[in-house]
Amino acid sequence: MKYFGYLFLLSTTIAIASDFSCPGGKTYPVSLTFDDGPAGAKTHKAMDILKNNNVLGTFFVLGENFDSEEKRRINYPILERMKREGHIVGSHTFNHIPHTAVSSERAFSNIDRATELLKGYMSPIVRLPYGDGSFATSKPEKKLASEKVMNHIKEKGLTHVGWSIDTNDWDVKKRPFVLESMMKQICQQHGGVILFHDIHQNTIDHLDGWIHELKKAGHSIEPLTYFYKNLENKSLLKKDEVHGYCQQNEDKPNAIDSLSKKINEICNKIK
Ligand SMILES: [Zn+2]
Repeated sequence: MKYFGYLFLLSTTIAIASDFSCPGGKTYPVSLTFDDGPAGAKTHKAMDILKNNNVLGTFFVLGENFDSEEKRRINYPILERMKREGHIVGSHTFNHIPHTAVSSERAFSNIDRATELLKGYMSPIVRLPYGDGSFATSKPEKKLASEKVMNHIKEKGLTHVGWSIDTNDWDVKKRPFVLESMMKQICQQHGGVILFHDIHQNTIDHLDGWIHELKKAGHSIEPLTYFYKNLENKSLLKKDEVHGYCQQNEDKPNAIDSLSKKINEICNKIK
């Protein structure tokens, strides 16, 4: 009987160990972000999964999903649920365009239009589509365009938030490797902000499993705000952007909602 007991113990130990543990069993903080929504039932399902796993996420939504009465009727309640359940809502701008490849006027209005439509729901954060604003470029034209757009974002009191771990979940060919690639990048970069897209059914179908793997490898899934006080090495945000974000929140001593309250608390801690 004792012998079987040992066997049982051995098998459970093997079952607990993760195939994706980082070298030395190191564990890191990560944050989950979802772009391009809201996408109706898929986004609701994503929130169900996050809720069941007791995890908070960030949704960078597109303003174009709020440009008609019909869309607003469906999509504002999704944003309401996000806020109610403690998730962060950010702007992914209005149309999904490359902001550094269009005129400044078009880029600026595309950012502002989304901010206007998302007022009351979004935190003062924006993520430009296609990694604009996050990637260094050697092309002078693109660099100038990027500076202009980033300045505009700053002038509007917004903070640009990129990502550091790209799952390529949108790419049909790379989909089978999302988990492997994500876990590898986490070990290499010591955690970071993960990019997903809640508009893809494949992502929704696997999200629960991916979260389980993250937990199994010992990583902690944190709200995006966690990374505003833990940006040391090469990461998605510069330190001055972190302070900029907190300074903006200083102007609002009376937090309007629980999310702002939480952000204020974190900002107060890192002062
Ligand atoms: Zn996008």
